[in-house]
Amino acid sequence: AQNPDYRGRFAPSPTGLLHAGSLTTAVGSYLEARSRGGQWLLRMEDLDPPREMPGAAANILCTLQAFGFEWDGEVVYQSQRHALYRAALAQLIAQGDAYGCGCTRKEIAEHGQRGVDGMVYPGSCRHGVAPGRTPRAWRLRVPDAVLGFDDRLQGHYAQQLQRDIGDFVLLRADGFWAYQLAVVVDDIEQGISDIVRGADLLVSTPRQLWLRQCLGGAAVSHCHLPLMVNAAGEKLSKQTLAPAITPALAAQELRLALLRLGHAAPAEAGSLAELWQWAHGQWSLSRVPAGPVTIT
Ligand code: GLU
Repeated sequence: AQNPDYRGRFAPSPTGLLHAGSLTTAVGSYLEARSRGGQWLLRMEDLDPPREMPGAAANILCTLQAFGFEWDGEVVYQSQRHALYRAALAQLIAQGDAYGCGCTRKEIAEHGQRGVDGMVYPGSCRHGVAPGRTPRAWRLRVPDAVLGFDDRLQGHYAQQLQRDIGDFVLLRADGFWAYQLAVVVDDIEQGISDIVRGADLLVSTPRQLWLRQCLGGAAVSHCHLPLMVNAAGEKLSKQTLAPAITPALAAQELRLALLRLGHAAPAEAGSLAELWQWAHGQWSLSRVPAGPVTIT
C-alpha cells in the first residue's frame, strides 16, 4: 500500500566508493521506507570537492543499481543546489539566527573548550566581528538549552547545545557549504519525513533539529542504524580502509548486510531477487540491533 506520508532517503557523499557500512545503511533505509509503503529518494552529497573522489558519484549509482535498489524520481545533486543554501542562509541572517565569524581555527583552538564533536566555538563574534576583521565563515547561534529527541532505534538522545556543540558553521571559511546546512535544507525541501542513516550521525542530529526549527521545517522522525566497526572497533570508512563493495558479489553482500541488520536470510534465498523478496516480506526494525556491529 502506498503511504504518501512517508518519504525516506539515502544520501551518500562521493568521497569514496560504497563499503560494507554504507551499503548496510542503504539497505536499512530502503527496506524501512518500502515496508512502510513510502518513497525512497537518492541524494548525492557532492558539496565538498576537495574531499571527493573522481568518479565516485557515478560508481555509487551503478553499484546501487546493480544491487537492485529502485529509487523514486531523479537523483538530486547538492552541487546543483547552491541557490537553495544561499536563500536559507539569507533567511537565517535576516532572522538574526546566523552571524559572520572572523575567527581563525587557531584562535578557536586556543579559546574554545572541547565539546562532544570537536571544539565548542567560544562565541567571540556573536555580537559582531572585531574591528578590522572580516567574516570568514557564517555560524548558527544555538540556544542555552537541552535539545533531545527519541530515536526509533537508539532511544532518547540529547545535547546541551551551547555547552556540547556551540554555535556551528553553516558556510565555511573556504567558501563551501557545511554539511549541516545542506542536509537540513534538502531534507526540508524534499519533504523527507523519516531520516534513516548511520549512527555516526547521531551526534549531528540535535543541531540539525535546531536548524530545522529556525528554518520552519516540519517535524521529522529519526532512526540511526547501528555503527559498523572493524575488528579494532573503528568506524568503517575510507580512512580506516574499508574495502569497496563488489557488485559482482551482490547477492553475497546483500545477505551480509541483512545479517548485520538482524535479518538472517534462509539459504534457499540464493539470488539477489530472492533475497530482496524475502527481505521485503520479513523486514522489521524491531529485529535490528542498536549496535555497534563488527564487520570482519
Ligand atoms: N552524506 C552523509 C554521509 O555520507 C549522510 C548524510 C545523512 O544521511 O544525513 O555521511
